[in-house]
Amino acid sequence: MTYPTKAYAAESATSPLASTEIPRRDPTARDVQIEILFCGICHSDLHQVRDEWSAFMPTTYPAVVGHEIVGRVTKVGSGVTKHAPGDLVAVGCLVDSDRTCPQCRDHLENLCPNGVFTYNAPDQHGTAPVTYGGYSGSIVVDEHFVLRVPKGLDPARTAPLLCAGITTYSPMRRAGVGKGQKVGVVGLGGLGHMGVKFAHAFGAHTVVFTTSPNKKEDALRLGADEVVVSRDANEMAKHAGSFDFLLDTVSADHDVNSFLNLLAHDGTLTLVGAPSKPLEVSAFALLMGRRKLSGSLIGGIAETQEMLDFCGRHEIASDVEVIPIQKVNEAYERLVRSDVKYRFVIDMASLARG
Ligand SMILES: [Zn+2]
Ligand SMILES: [Zn+2]
Repeated sequence: MTYPTKAYAAESATSPLASTEIPRRDPTARDVQIEILFCGICHSDLHQVRDEWSAFMPTTYPAVVGHEIVGRVTKVGSGVTKHAPGDLVAVGCLVDSDRTCPQCRDHLENLCPNGVFTYNAPDQHGTAPVTYGGYSGSIVVDEHFVLRVPKGLDPARTAPLLCAGITTYSPMRRAGVGKGQKVGVVGLGGLGHMGVKFAHAFGAHTVVFTTSPNKKEDALRLGADEVVVSRDANEMAKHAGSFDFLLDTVSADHDVNSFLNLLAHDGTLTLVGAPSKPLEVSAFALLMGRRKLSGSLIGGIAETQEMLDFCGRHEIASDVEVIPIQKVNEAYERLVRSDVKYRFVIDMASLARG
């Protein structure tokens, strides 16, 4: 059985998002039904709406995107133990996995070969052809994939933690970023601004690399100790061979070698942005100093909860611009121009206005 909920959907790769109604399943024994309060706008939303990843993840229409969800529990199934009606909860990029593969057994649902993304993934419950995301009034999710929002965190500013937050927290945690280390964050957008906050909170000497000198002041405000304009070869040269860890958040094509050369021996550069073209990597930049180049994709459910709890304790949240859903198409145009500090979040109460 299903029930209808309001949503904003794209009917094709070229049509704007518009008001519609979608079905949600009635909660089964292990399900949590959530009234969505806020949903962040991730760059992946835009890629999927416009079918820009058609080569490896073609979009099924209508497309309802959004995987930075914060909401209030309205109903739970009879077998649910983790959540109760009234709880403030969150849902990120995943709504299910097979739970039996080695990665799932190791709490790495994000690496499960049968993971179910929050939108545009085959719907295992048959409610619709694909899963529908957070640009909607309500969602039903298995309790294992529903996170607790710690008390004291602002719900709107919490939403982006579910993708931008965990994407930057996870690789730095895994690398053991902390006091006494020199850590760089390349790019200061939605991902980068969270990377700076976490690196600073972990106690590392934090350096931001940006192409725009006018972001300097903002980077320092967000917690950076130093800011380097990456186009300035002299400034870059001063930092050669000195970094323990570099988080590269850039999705545009860029020269990764100039950053690899900034790593100390055994240092790691982790990519979390996804440039569409393959990167050119100089073998020498890796050989010299035994450096490592790696990638990272969101995080497991337990680690995502750990990240939210960390944010609760350290009062960390995203810098956001809250918009009504009626402005979502305009927000997409601004997102393409990087004209946002640093994440758009949709106030879902605006859905009632149609
Ligand atoms: Zn995302
Ligand atoms: Zn699995």
